[in-house]
Order: sequence, then structure tokens, then C-alpha cells
Amino acid sequence: GIRFEKVVKRFGGTVVLRELDFQVAPGERVTLIGPSGSGKTTILRLLMTLERVDGGVIWVGDRPLSHMPRGGRLVPAGERHLHEMRKQIGMVFQQFNLFPNMNVLRNLTEAPVRVLGLSKDEAVERARRLLDMVGLADKIDAHPAQLSGGQQQRVAIARALAMEPRVLLLDEVTSALDPELVVGVQDLLRDIARDSDMTMLCVTHEMNFARDISDRVLMFDRGRIVEEGPPEQIFEAPAEQRTRDFLQAVL
Ligand code: ATP
Repeated sequence: GIRFEKVVKRFGGTVVLRELDFQVAPGERVTLIGPSGSGKTTILRLLMTLERVDGGVIWVGDRPLSHMPRGGRLVPAGERHLHEMRKQIGMVFQQFNLFPNMNVLRNLTEAPVRVLGLSKDEAVERARRLLDMVGLADKIDAHPAQLSGGQQQRVAIARALAMEPRVLLLDEVTSALDPELVVGVQDLLRDIARDSDMTMLCVTHEMNFARDISDRVLMFDRGRIVEEGPPEQIFEAPAEQRTRDFLQAVL
């Protein structure tokens, strides 16, 4: 699982996260909702170690993500520790971020071979199985530019899964897609959520998707959790006025 312990994040003079505490249990699927600028993407970027915390500690499993124990204290970790920890975390981005100069197969095998040390054959077998799962076995030789947005996002999902991460982060994964492609990608992710025991943390503006995929929803505003609960509670009987206002604006 994941645990944020008094996490502080600032950009310049702006405090985006102020001693944020929350946890996601192993295998739990949690969705972050809330107005633009409330800090949701920052949380995912911290988990991907694309940003560093300014205070507090993030735990992944039983290890601190970007710190190392030394002399009874936690000190900022070096690149080797970060590299180890990153292997456990996969992310799917809004803009797919496939390697444009590699075909689909290479997109899926590159990191498993380089980072996990799989043999070429093992990586190719894994890639074929995942492409089958996402319904793109016939695109194995295509380049990203030859694929639709929905197909690129399916490849990006398969690429994340090829690393067999313990934690999967989803950042607005359907918001760059044409409307008719959204449902297919959401259905795929719903199946993955149902069939795997990965911990999933998802940021979305699509409330139906949030309802379908999550065990628990956290409503954020200005870097704080305003309210949390199972999706039925948050979407049907929100306790906080702030949540009601937000839902009214987006639904
Ligand atoms: P959205 O739903 O629009 O993606 P969000 O809830 O994901 O919003 P964040 O992207 O996490 O919000 O941003 C939180 C705050 O941090 C915003 O005020 C944003 O302007 C600020 N911020 C984020 N990244 C940076 C950065 N690299 N430099 C400066 N400010 C930043």
C-alpha cells in the first residue's frame, strides 16, 4: 500500500500540500477528486518521484519512497534507492507518453529488459500476452503515430503493466481521448481493477468512472482531504457542502 505521513509540498511560496496524511491499503483502489489546482496531480507526481517532498514521508509498502533510514533518522535517498522504488510504481498519463520512435513491441519490452533484467524472450512473451489483453495484438509492429488516441492509451496501459508494478497510478487517463474512445479505455481499466491485486490510485474528472473503479473516494480541496468514503456515500450522500458544490459543478 501507500502512506502519506505529514507530507508537505511547496512550489515557490505556494504551499500545495500541507502536512497531508492518508493511506491506501494494499490492493485498494482509491480515486482522488476535487477542483482544479487542489493538488491531485502533485500527489501522483510525488509518487512517481517526478517531484520531491518538502516535508514528511511517503511510504510505499514498508519502505520510505524518497528517504533512507540512517542513524535512526530518515534522510533523503540517493538515485539508487529511488530507482529501486520506482520499479514498484507504474503510471499512465493523460497524454499517453509512448516512445514515439519505437514500435509497440519495443515500447512494451524496453523497460522490462533494461530495468527488470528480463530476457528478450521473456519480455516479448509478456508483451504479447498484454497486447492480447488490451485487444491490440495486431498492432505489435505499429508506431504510436499510426494508432488512435484510444489505442495509444491501451498500449500505455499495457506498458505500465509490463513492469508488474505493485502500485498503478492513473492520471486523467481518458481526458485527452475523443468521446467515443473513452468507454473502451474505462472498461479495460475496470477489468484490470477487478482481476488484479494491484494498489490503484486514480485522478479523474469522470465521476461515473470514479464510482465504478474505486473502493474509496477522497475529495480534495486546496491540498486537504475535505471528505472521504465509499463512492456510494460520496456521490449519493456527501456530508460536506464543499463536496456537494463540486459535484454539482461537474455532474
Ligand atoms: P487539475 O485537476 O487541474 O489537474 P490538480 O488538483 O491536479 O489540478 P495540481 O496540478 O496538483 O492540481 O496543482 C496544485 C497546485 O500546484 C496548483 O496551484 C498549481 O498551479 C501548482 N503547481 C503544480 N505544479 C507546479 C509547478 N511545477 N510549479 C509551480 N506550481 C505548480
